[in-house]
Amino acid sequence: MSLDLTADTPSAPAVADDGVWLACIECGETFAPFSAIRYTCDHCDGLLEVRYDDPPTFDDFEGRGVWRYSAALPFEMGVSLPEGDTPLHHVPRLEEEIGIERLRVKHEGMNPTGSFKDRGMTVGVRVAEELGVDRLACASTGNTSAALAAYGARGGMPTLVLLPAGKVAAGKIAQAALHDARILEVDGNFDDCLDIVQDLAARGEVYLLNSLNPFRLEGQKTIGLEILEEFHADHGTYPDRIVLPVGNAGNTSALYKCFRELVQSGALDADDVPKLTGVQAEGAAPMVEAIEEGNDEVRRWPDVETIATAIRIGNPVNAPKALPGIRQTGGTAVSVTDEAITDAQRSLASEGVGVEPASATSIAGLRKLREQGVVDDDEQVVCLTTGHLLKDPDAAFAAGNKPESVPNDTEAILDHIAE
Ligand SMILES: *Cc1c(COP(=O)(O)O)cnc(C)c1O
Ligand SMILES: [Zn+2]
Repeated sequence: MSLDLTADTPSAPAVADDGVWLACIECGETFAPFSAIRYTCDHCDGLLEVRYDDPPTFDDFEGRGVWRYSAALPFEMGVSLPEGDTPLHHVPRLEEEIGIERLRVKHEGMNPTGSFKDRGMTVGVRVAEELGVDRLACASTGNTSAALAAYGARGGMPTLVLLPAGKVAAGKIAQAALHDARILEVDGNFDDCLDIVQDLAARGEVYLLNSLNPFRLEGQKTIGLEILEEFHADHGTYPDRIVLPVGNAGNTSALYKCFRELVQSGALDADDVPKLTGVQAEGAAPMVEAIEEGNDEVRRWPDVETIATAIRIGNPVNAPKALPGIRQTGGTAVSVTDEAITDAQRSLASEGVGVEPASATSIAGLRKLREQGVVDDDEQVVCLTTGHLLKDPDAAFAAGNKPESVPNDTEAILDHIAE
C-alpha cells in the first residue's frame, strides 16, 4: 500500500488552537478552528479538514464509546447519550456462504438513535456549543435528522431539519418529531435539501451539521478506531478490507482520515491499512461511476431512486475526500440492485442482525465483488451496517414474512400451523 502522506505532515500553523486547526484539502490554506463559523475554504471553496499537531496512538485511548478516542478528537468530552462501542458481530453462515476467510459485521444501528450519525453529532453539537450558535440544522435522508434532533435536544438547542418529501423512512421522521425538531418537507430530493440548507447556513440563519461540517467526520473516525482495536484484539491482525454503504461519502472520508492519522503517529503500518470499499445502489451510484471511469470528479446525478433511501443521493459532497481514500487504500466501489439489497437484508436478519436497507448494501456489495473475483477467498473483511432495522419498518414488512390471520381458537391454530 502506498499511502501518500506528504500533503498533511502535521506541524501547527499560527492559527492553531491548542494543536487543532482547519486546513483546506484543495489549496492547503489553514484556519483557526473555533473563532468563526466556516464550512469550506474562504479562498477556493474546497472542503476543510480538522488537523492535529499530535496524531494519536492506540495507547492514548481510555474508557468506552466515542469519547474513548478523545486523543483523536478536538475536545475531551461532548454532548453524549452515550454513543459508539457498537458490536462487531460474527456471522458464520454469511462468512461461509460468501466464501472468505473471515467476515465480521460492525453494526452501527446499535447507536443511541439507531445509526452511526450519532458519532458525528456528539462532536458536532459540542463544536456548536463552542461557537455559541443559536440554531442547528441539516438536510437529511432521515438518520442525520434523527441524530441531530436527539443531540440538539440533549444540548438544549433548537433544531431545523429539511427532508425530501415522501422519501424518508417512517422511523426516522418519528424520531425527529418526538425529539422536537422543526421538520420541513421539501418538494425535491436530498441534494436539493442540502443546497437550501447550505444557503441558510451561508446567510447565518443556522449552524450546518451535515457531513460537509468537518467536525462531524471527526466523530465518525471512531468507527475505524473501534474496528481496528477490536479486530486486532480478537484476531491479532487488522482486516484486509472494510466494505461500507456510500451516500455523501462522509464515512468513507472519515475512515480514510482515521487510517492516515494512525499511520502518521506510527501506530499503524501503511501496509496494514484496510482497503476501503464503497457500495452504492444502482439507482444512485455517482461515486461508483467516478471510480469505474477513473474520474477525479463526481458527476451529479439529477435523478436518483432506490429502496435504500438513506443513500438516495446524487451529489456526494465528500467525494473529494473519499475518492482518494478508496484509491490510496487499494479499494474499489461497486453498485448493487435493490433486489440484492433486500436479499442481503434478509441474510443479515437470518443471523439475528436487523438492519435497514442502506446498511445491507455492504453485504450485497461484498457478495458481488466475491462473485467477480475482486475479493479473494483468503480475505478478512469487515462490513459496516449503518442503521437499525426499525428505522424503516415498511421495508422490513415488505422483505419479511407476512402475518397470517387465524381464528381465536387453539385447535384451529394447531391445524393452521400443521399445514
Ligand atoms: C447517512 C447514512 C449512510 C451514508 O453515509 P455517508 O457517510 O453519507 O456515505 C448510509 N447508511 C445509513 C443508514 C445512513 O444513515
Ligand atoms: Zn482552499
